[in-house]
Formats: sequence, C-alpha cells, structure tokens
Amino acid sequence: MMPLMPDHILSIWNMYGSYTAILLIAAGLSLVLSHYLKLLFTTDKKSRYDYINKNEIKRLWFCFLLFAIGATLLLNTLFYPTTWLWFFVRLFLSSMMGIIIGVIVQNMLKFYFPFYIEKRLKKLRYSPRISAEGNVMKLLSEEEEDVYLDEGMQAEENAYSVDYDVWIDEKTKFTKIEKYNGRLHALKCDKCNYQTLKVSKEEITQPATLNEEGELIKFLSCGYCGQKSRKSHRIAKLNPKVSATD
Ligand SMILES: [Zn+2]
Repeated sequence: MMPLMPDHILSIWNMYGSYTAILLIAAGLSLVLSHYLKLLFTTDKKSRYDYINKNEIKRLWFCFLLFAIGATLLLNTLFYPTTWLWFFVRLFLSSMMGIIIGVIVQNMLKFYFPFYIEKRLKKLRYSPRISAEGNVMKLLSEEEEDVYLDEGMQAEENAYSVDYDVWIDEKTKFTKIEKYNGRLHALKCDKCNYQTLKVSKEEITQPATLNEEGELIKFLSCGYCGQKSRKSHRIAKLNPKVSATD
C-alpha cells in the first residue's frame, strides 16, 4: 500500500473508532432515556405540556444524530484485517445509507410525529387538575374565566395567540391559571392536513379604541406544503373602567 497510508493506521482507527462510536451511541440512548425519565417525574401537567411542546422533537432528532453517526462509525470499525480500498468503499456506502435513513427519520419527526405529540398535549391540557387539598378542579369556560383574568391577560387573549385556562377548586375557590402560547404550537393545515401550520407574524392593523373594535391579522405559514394564509381577528373594545385609571 502507499507509504502515506500505512496499515497500522487502520488498526488504530478500528480501536479508537469503535470507542468513539460506542460513546456516541451511549450518549444518544441516554439522552432519550433522560428525556422520558424527566417527563415521568414531572408530575405537574402544565410543566409536562411545556416540556414536550418545547423539547421533544428537537431532543429526539439530536439523539438520532448521535446514534446514527455512532452506528455508522461502528460499522466501519468492525472489519479487520482490511485494505484501504475496502475501507473507503465501506465508508462511502455506509455514509450514503446513513444519510438516506437520516432524511427519512427527519421527515417522520417533522411531519408525522407532531400528530402523536398533539394527541398527548391535548390530553395533558384538558385532563383534570388536582388542587393542593386533593380536590378535582374544574376547567372554566371562556365566558366564566374572564372574572379570574386581569385586564392584561384578557387583552392578550383578545389580541394575540395566547390562551389562558382557568382551573378552579370549587370547594376552596382556589384557582390555577395556565398560559398557552399559540405561537409555539402548530395547527392543522387545511391544505395538506399535517400538523405543521404556525403563526409566523401578528400585526395589529387597527388598534381598538373605546368606541370601536380593532383588528389583528395573523400570518400563518405551513412548514410542510408552504401554504401561506392570513386570518383576521377582532380585538374587543377597550374597557372604559381600565382606560380611566391609566
Ligand atoms: Zn400545509
């Protein structure tokens, strides 16, 4: 073989390559495990909701990358003795293979996985909360909840993609208010039916006044089919009591 590529480098590669590979695979697996362990030990449903919504897809993708790079590397360290020619053939073929599998997994995480996440998030958001006293709390309707939201929260609900859920313990009157940010959460696209439609921008085109309702435009764009749409929302008239105290 060429003097620049002595065979003993291959044996060094085989040894350290396999150590690195095993390390990468172990890191990928333990990060998946720690994600689900953390969910298991987070008892508060709202915290669990936020954690899944914010991290799960990103975390799984990162773990997959670690695992896939590790597995490809490991595959390239298993054969000894070997020649440089076979080394490069294997490296090329396994890298191509890895890239193809990577693209498939990325698409699954981006387009199919959100349905599964959505189902879990819905369940977390609407399953009954338990108060500190151990009573089952009740979720108030949009009309009932306003009494418990301050003016700022109501304005936010009217104007932006924000939802407040109010849970009440009817025995002790203890309330728990949870904020859901619609911008961080994908909707179902009516063109391609994937759960990939997100609010990209919000613009108040007509501020609300004491006498007139305002208007807000939400710009939505789909991460799958690229469909862009806008939706007009009305903003409730300003509350005279609150404006007077400003
Ligand atoms: Zn779409």
